[in-house]
Amino acid sequence: MNFRYGLQARFVALMAVALLVVLALMLLLWSRQGRMQSEVENVTREGIERIANATLRRQGEGMVTQLSESLANPLYYFDLDAIGVLGRATLNQPGIRYVLVYDTEGNIVHDGSEEIPSYGKRMDDAMAGQAIATPQLLTQFGEDLMDVAAPIMIGNERIGGVRVGFDLRGLRNDQDAAVSDLRTRLDELGRRQLLWVALLSAGLLGLGVLMLWLIQRFLVRPIRQLADAAHSIEMGHFETARAPVSTRNDEVGDLLRAFNRMNTSVARHDREIRRMAYTDALTSLANRLAFRETLDQRLLQMHGAGRQLALLFADIDDFKRVNDTLGHDAGDEVLLQFAQRIRDAVKRIGGPDAALARFGGDEFVILVEPDTQAGHDARHVASRLAEALVAELGQPITVHDRQVFLGTSIGITLFPEDASGANSLMKNGDIAMYQAKVAGKNCYRFYSRAMDQAVERRVHLEHELRGAWDRGELSLAYQPVFRVSDNALVGAEALLRWRHPEHGTIAPSVFIDVAEQSGLIEVLGPQVLRAACEDAVGWEKHRGGRDPLFVSVNLSPRQLRSGDLPQLVASVLRDTGLHPRQLHLELTETAVLGDEALASAMLSQLRTTGVQVWLDDFGTGFSGLSHLRRVPVDGVKIDRSFVADILRDPDDLALTTAIIAMAHSLGIIVVAEGVEREGQYQLLRDRDCDLAQGYLLGHPMPVSEFDKLLR
Ligand code: C2E
Ligand code: MG
Ligand code: MG
Repeated sequence: MNFRYGLQARFVALMAVALLVVLALMLLLWSRQGRMQSEVENVTREGIERIANATLRRQGEGMVTQLSESLANPLYYFDLDAIGVLGRATLNQPGIRYVLVYDTEGNIVHDGSEEIPSYGKRMDDAMAGQAIATPQLLTQFGEDLMDVAAPIMIGNERIGGVRVGFDLRGLRNDQDAAVSDLRTRLDELGRRQLLWVALLSAGLLGLGVLMLWLIQRFLVRPIRQLADAAHSIEMGHFETARAPVSTRNDEVGDLLRAFNRMNTSVARHDREIRRMAYTDALTSLANRLAFRETLDQRLLQMHGAGRQLALLFADIDDFKRVNDTLGHDAGDEVLLQFAQRIRDAVKRIGGPDAALARFGGDEFVILVEPDTQAGHDARHVASRLAEALVAELGQPITVHDRQVFLGTSIGITLFPEDASGANSLMKNGDIAMYQAKVAGKNCYRFYSRAMDQAVERRVHLEHELRGAWDRGELSLAYQPVFRVSDNALVGAEALLRWRHPEHGTIAPSVFIDVAEQSGLIEVLGPQVLRAACEDAVGWEKHRGGRDPLFVSVNLSPRQLRSGDLPQLVASVLRDTGLHPRQLHLELTETAVLGDEALASAMLSQLRTTGVQVWLDDFGTGFSGLSHLRRVPVDGVKIDRSFVADILRDPDDLALTTAIIAMAHSLGIIVVAEGVEREGQYQLLRDRDCDLAQGYLLGHPMPVSEFDKLLR
């Protein structure tokens, strides 16, 4: 662990600084005390000396004054014996070093001894001069001596003097003893004080350590634990990221508890966000993101393991129609039921390692990973599952008390055959699914490399379709429409044809889809409308007084949604001079019911101009008969899938019959599409169908041929 100047280090440093300051203060105190001690000693010594000196001086001066008075007479009479007695008496007193009696010249008369060896000698010591010269009492101090000199007077005449030397050594010794006693006491005092200081320092140190420990235990440690826990949260480990449970009734306790509460709520939010990010809200299945992660993970484990997997892309056929015709609630319900069916099938066939996700909209993706050890083959399992799904999802679904028939197109791609990367696999699955749609829907297709080319062709097709009208590759074919009651020709449906210079005739089911999806239809549509109207105007001259023929033009949902349809129709009619009654517009249920309010308003607007609006491919959507009441149309075209079966399937016949009856009750004309056989035509006539078209009556033909037919 690398060192960090953290909270604890800071406290230690602070503590150390405080201790150092205290230590320095103590040292200063200690040295001050030493100096004070020696000062006290000096002052004491001086005081003692001054007091001792003063006392000695007073005593000495008193004594010498008395002596000088006693000596006056003996000296006057020069009685040496008497002087000697007095001198000796004084000399014998303790602490007297010498007694000198001298004459006015300073010559010694007596020194207190028996023989007086110094008799007549002149005093020549250091203090003699002063003593001789001064006519009053004089006290002088020497090294270890106090010299007191007093004149000896007879009346006012000075006849000599006396000097007594007091020995100061004893006194000094006493003084020294007293001072040294004082010093030992002061030292003792100092030592005791030092001990206290040491104890105080130790106490302070102990206090510091205790504080550090307390800080560590109650502040630093919880903060560290919090930091660790916060780090864990950062890493996403919410379970391990718990701060210690604390019963402490202080701010840190509050903090720890608040932290744990926060952690719980963050963890909950994280779980929710994860769940939201990884699951589809409607079906609770995994979403695209979650699936992609699963796929990446599986692919990572795959490599070199000789394992296989298959991806199935399932898309509900024409699901948009459910939303458009029954509403989004019904759409959601359908998706939920589909999801449940897929779940069941995957559980049954896909094996334990299968994964299922909804990619948004009506697209479901399934990952199957067969147990290759057990001899299962990815292709085999995938096709079994796809078959089951197509069969199961083809069963009718009951939504809002209505039965809905839907199919599913499934694209399958295999790892490692088709691709090794997740991106390519997903793209392949999509392409294969698209191919299943192209192949007629409600089936499944395995991806093949040729499909890539098909997709490319589609892009190419769109590109080529862009200039096709101007290059004259597009033309209109007309399929005659007859009145059933008297077999009279009443009009024709305009159907777009594309003669491609290389690929020959391309089916409208292919290129109309491309035009619709690329938006090209918004350019093509008006061109078709204009051309059809022009052609219809041309037919008039062949009619010779008979009822004019109508032309019926198909409109794509996109054209209806673009909004300017009434204006376009009006301007085309004005430009070509075609009577509005002679124009029929064919719209699919999907287009009309996508936005019912808008469509109704627009259809009403169109119809007021005299143009007729027909519902094309009626019966394939889900609008049902009741919708006819709400949508203002002039006619319905029964889809050729019903007409094809009316001879065999009683249900289709019943439905066709019902449509005709219902339409008539609402004053709506009925057209039957795809009449190929005489029997169908007979049956339709029996059921009172108004108009009919089909290969039996006439194929779609170029305008030139249609012209011939008219003549
Ligand atoms: P639709 O409007 O339902 O047109 C009728 C289709 O049925 C035409 O196919 C026609 O050739 C075909 N048909 C007619 N009689 C019979 C029959 O007896 N048996 C069979 N099996 N089929 C018959 P086509 O021409 O391939 O058109 C397909 C669809 O393309 C049309 O269906 C229409 O929805 C669309 N379409 C065609 N031309 C245009 C156009 O100019 N604009 C738009 N928006 N769509 C168009
Ligand atoms: Mg049509
Ligand atoms: Mg049709």
